[in-house]
Amino acid sequence: MLTVNAYAAPSATEPLIPTTVQRRDVGPHDVLIDIKFAGICHSDIHTVRGDWGPQTYPLAPGHEIAGIVTEVGSEVTRHAVGDRVGVGCMVNSCRECANCLKGEEQYCLKGNVGTYGAVDRDGTITQGGYTTHVVVNEDFVVTIPDGLKLDVAAPLLCAGITTYSPLRHWGAAPGKQVAVVGLGGLGHMAVKFAHALGAEVTVLSQSLKKMEDGLRLGADHYRATSEEETFQDLAGTFDLIINTVSAPINLDAYLSLLTVDGALVNVGAPAEPLPLHEFSLILGRRSFAGSAIGGIRETQEMLDFCAEHGIGAEIEVIPADKINEAYERVLSSDVRYRFVIDTSTMN
Ligand code: NAP
Ligand code: ZN
Repeated sequence: MLTVNAYAAPSATEPLIPTTVQRRDVGPHDVLIDIKFAGICHSDIHTVRGDWGPQTYPLAPGHEIAGIVTEVGSEVTRHAVGDRVGVGCMVNSCRECANCLKGEEQYCLKGNVGTYGAVDRDGTITQGGYTTHVVVNEDFVVTIPDGLKLDVAAPLLCAGITTYSPLRHWGAAPGKQVAVVGLGGLGHMAVKFAHALGAEVTVLSQSLKKMEDGLRLGADHYRATSEEETFQDLAGTFDLIINTVSAPINLDAYLSLLTVDGALVNVGAPAEPLPLHEFSLILGRRSFAGSAIGGIRETQEMLDFCAEHGIGAEIEVIPADKINEAYERVLSSDVRYRFVIDTSTMN
């Protein structure tokens, strides 16, 4: 057992504090990772604050992990000491169900084991990436290609795959009109990917404050959702809308922006249920769908795509003692576009 430095929430209502967590001994199929960077995802905030249900505390969040392998178990074949690697939102799954066999471990029928706040196979509660080291089964560790720096790669492990996967699944490509709602951590990656896949991209943001950034990141158009004309002008326009907003939105208004057969895909996961009127779907044969992260194979594919296209996250690197401040900034949509913790500041 290894005791490592961490930042963890003591309860749903208190700030995160420096502490330690335990890591299991490296088993035959495990790798020990020296974490270099950990991204701050809005899901970390939802989780530690109990938005999605009660948690066991203390809880160290973090599922955008980038680091270096420092030890491997006797049976490990996929990774070696010195490899640059990443860990995302899952650290295990049943590996036997239809979905795991398809490589869609995020939809494991027995439930995948989340990187933090989940019950691990040994009955302990998993602790995430706001720590200096983690021990993970080799099958849930991906390779960060040489062309990608570790700090800009960390957010790809959640924000990257969560937007890449639905864009691929719903066919973002040349000739397609794609809108991205919310220009935060997920949203800015969605813009980069949709652009790289050849689609015509529109950002739908609360205001025009980040327009210059949005256009630089690859958007062709940028509109404010606070302006009534936006919804009139863009009615019936989009083949695909990716909603990354962390709060409830008016789904009917956004569904009206879809073409016939268009799809609004929700990756944003607010605490509250989202109501919608069935005629928003019926009149236009439209779909409303959801999507969770992506499987391990697709996560590796996404990282390779990023290396090939020179894509990384836009980041602000922070020391660990700024985590609580960063949370407040994320909550007020003041993030450009992902906070990444330099975990060396936890030593
Ligand atoms: P984020 O960085 O905070 O970005 C969310 C963006 O939504 C904000 O930057 C803001 O963009 C917009 N927004 C925030 N509050 C809003 C409001 N009240 N009304 C309208 N727009 C608002 O968060 P994130 O890390 O990208 O995560 C976004 C959501 O996705 C979270 O709910 C998270 O839990 C979820 N998530 C889901 C998955 C999955 O697998 N499905 C994976 C990761 C995260 P503008 O300023 O441009 O309007
Ligand atoms: Zn996340």
